[in-house]
Amino acid sequence: MWVPRSLGRSLSQLKSIGSGPFARQISAKIVNESSIEVQPEADGKPLVFPGIWLRDNCMCEDCFHGSSKSRKLDWDSFDTRIRPVSLRTDEQCQEVLVKWSDAHESRFALRWLKERSFEPDAQQKYLREFYRPTTRNWAGSEFQEIARHFSYEEVMAQDSVLMQWLQALAVYGVALLRGAPLDEGVVRRLADRVGFIRRTTYGEEFVVQAKPGAQNFAYLSLPLPLHTDLPYYEYKPSVNILHCVVQTDSPGGSNMLVDGFHVADLLRRDHPEDFERLSRVVIDWNDIGSEDGREFHNIWRAPVICLDAEGRCTRINHSVPQRDSHFNVPLEEVLPWYESYARFVRLAIADSHAFKTRPGDVLTFNNIRLLHGRTGYDDSKASPRYIVGAYLDWDIIYSRLRVLRKRLTASCQ
Ligand SMILES: [Zn+2]
Repeated sequence: MWVPRSLGRSLSQLKSIGSGPFARQISAKIVNESSIEVQPEADGKPLVFPGIWLRDNCMCEDCFHGSSKSRKLDWDSFDTRIRPVSLRTDEQCQEVLVKWSDAHESRFALRWLKERSFEPDAQQKYLREFYRPTTRNWAGSEFQEIARHFSYEEVMAQDSVLMQWLQALAVYGVALLRGAPLDEGVVRRLADRVGFIRRTTYGEEFVVQAKPGAQNFAYLSLPLPLHTDLPYYEYKPSVNILHCVVQTDSPGGSNMLVDGFHVADLLRRDHPEDFERLSRVVIDWNDIGSEDGREFHNIWRAPVICLDAEGRCTRINHSVPQRDSHFNVPLEEVLPWYESYARFVRLAIADSHAFKTRPGDVLTFNNIRLLHGRTGYDDSKASPRYIVGAYLDWDIIYSRLRVLRKRLTASCQ
């Protein structure tokens, strides 16, 4: 039965009909002629849903393609003045049924509506827990406390451990796997476990070992200063996977890591002008060379500290070797920028944490956020160092994390 709009406004007294003892009594009414207010439980807070959004999200066969979970509404003729004209609630199915001013009819499950609540707290919870976990920035002195360790074998065999590893990586930007076999296929198997490897100029898997006449600064046994990889890519590889196969016995060869978001926070707090400049002035990052006979010349222009629309750090770019000699800024910006950058780099060095991985360790960290480096080492036949690396992308990792979360926590977003 369709209830006229005038009656629809007082549906809150609607009785539960044929719904069994445990069905919840729901009520719904039209508010401001354009929205729908749903009262999920007798004592629950009413939830308001804009009519235009509901009409846009109708899931009938004409409006929605079920198997691809995609909207197929004809948006060329979509009426933005659409109005709900009457409502009905179905207690048994726990649904709200809407009749629209374009004579169309839609039904919405209460659970579906609650998961899409426009209440700010509910939206924040969804963004923090399902969209992307909230990051927790850390100082170098907190490294031991925040660095999570996982068994490589368990990550490969158990979905729950895979999820914990990816979650730690998302929150802290770093996590260590232990006990991996000492073969060159580990990074690929791990990347395949998540999704697929990210290919770059330097291939899919890459080997970090001292090479005479190296094409990349990393392939030397010299100290490798703190940096982010491939700042010269618009679509920068997200996560480094570094598998330690052989570690040098010489005193050097330690990894250095620092949370670039934390360093940016320090700068924002203590040196706001430097922070403002490094997040505004656009730098040319570049890489010129050849790999496997293919010449390349990469350039991407971006600030050192990249911010989102809300002013939060989304990406840090830092590389001494991969900063172009072309500096396309006004003359008067040059010296102040160098001073601000020097301050950022000194803060990063002071806050970095050094540690040495052992054979079988797989170090994974967020290349969009952390700076990494390596202390110099004595590379000789008696003391070699052999690291196999690869990259993963956040799109692939977050997608995997959401799928795992839905499966393992019965969350149905
Ligand atoms: Zn429809």
